[in-house]
Amino acid sequence: KLYNMVQDLKGNIRVYCRIRPSFQAESSNIVDFIGEDGSLFILDPSKTLKDGRKLFQFNRVFGPTADQDEVYKDTQPLIRSVMDGYNVCIFAYGQTGSGKTHTMSGPSGGTFKDMGINYLALTDLFQMSNERNDIINYDIYVQMVEIYNEQVRDLLAEDKTDNKYPFHIHYSIHFHTSVDLNICNCNDDGLRLPDAKLRPVNSTADVMTLMKLGEVNRAVSSTAMNNRSSRSHSVLTVHVHGKDTSGNSIRSCLHLVDLAGSERVDKSEVTGERLKEAQFINKSLSCLGDVITALAQKNSHIPYRNSKLTLLLQDSLGGHAKTLMFAHVSPEADSFGETVSTLKFAQRVS
Ligand code: ADP
Ligand code: MG
Repeated sequence: KLYNMVQDLKGNIRVYCRIRPSFQAESSNIVDFIGEDGSLFILDPSKTLKDGRKLFQFNRVFGPTADQDEVYKDTQPLIRSVMDGYNVCIFAYGQTGSGKTHTMSGPSGGTFKDMGINYLALTDLFQMSNERNDIINYDIYVQMVEIYNEQVRDLLAEDKTDNKYPFHIHYSIHFHTSVDLNICNCNDDGLRLPDAKLRPVNSTADVMTLMKLGEVNRAVSSTAMNNRSSRSHSVLTVHVHGKDTSGNSIRSCLHLVDLAGSERVDKSEVTGERLKEAQFINKSLSCLGDVITALAQKNSHIPYRNSKLTLLLQDSLGGHAKTLMFAHVSPEADSFGETVSTLKFAQRVS
């Protein structure tokens, strides 16, 4: 019965908006009204709109006071359906600073307070696996990669200097792989990235340890001058392999995607590497939008091959797979332009 909840409305694609709290106490807040039905009115600070505000419509809108548990509650049925064999993708979209990483991972600092969807989802998966122990035996694995300038890199690559790895992480890990990983058609293993490390996990603590390593690897690959974490997509994939007592098996995966910042850069202000990054991000986010829109419209051609991200997630977008997009926006007036463009993007795919 739980799973039917996921099937309602727009089929297998759901789009939520999340508005983070304002950081400027005095500033004007452009969020005018949030409806229980998923409607959202945004005020236009420059008053160029005729009636001064604009309406957007989503499956649901989470306001600045919504906490992590409240946001996760709506996501939970999707996570649970992974255990039944569905592939699921969850995306965090929005400009840098709008709360994507907060939703997916939680606040940085490594305490177990306000943990995000990644942690809450994994906790649920392990709990369900235990509950079903006498009927199905589940094995759970994770992979973690980043896509930067259309190159796929393993964030869980082995640190060759530390044999105790991965459960005793020393924070001096050297990032050895700069290899652009091959995305394959699924073989018997059902793996699209056969060369990325596949780590068995038995508890959320295992996953958190690996995610920390992933974050360290991601940070190491950028320099102090060039913190590129907001300019790459990070994809945490949970592979679930289940086998029941009569030998039937199920395989599914859950992709938890913290997308690169969607902000537009001013071409007159950036050059070189920064401009190249911006163009890659722009292209891959619009490809993602095209794929989800094509799926929502039930088109016969879905343009998966136009970006690494959509190619990688191909088996988990469309078909029986379920997709959830969180569009993140900031409430401050000076974000008006980016907020409207995020909301337009999200409305297009919903
Ligand atoms: P992004 O990943 O989109 O660049 P972050 O998740 O890093 O943005 O959020 C930017 C800042 O805002 C961080 O300090 C984060 O902790 C804070 N923040 C974002 N969303 C929320 C929220 N819903 N509640 C409280 N703080 C938030
Ligand atoms: Mg972030």
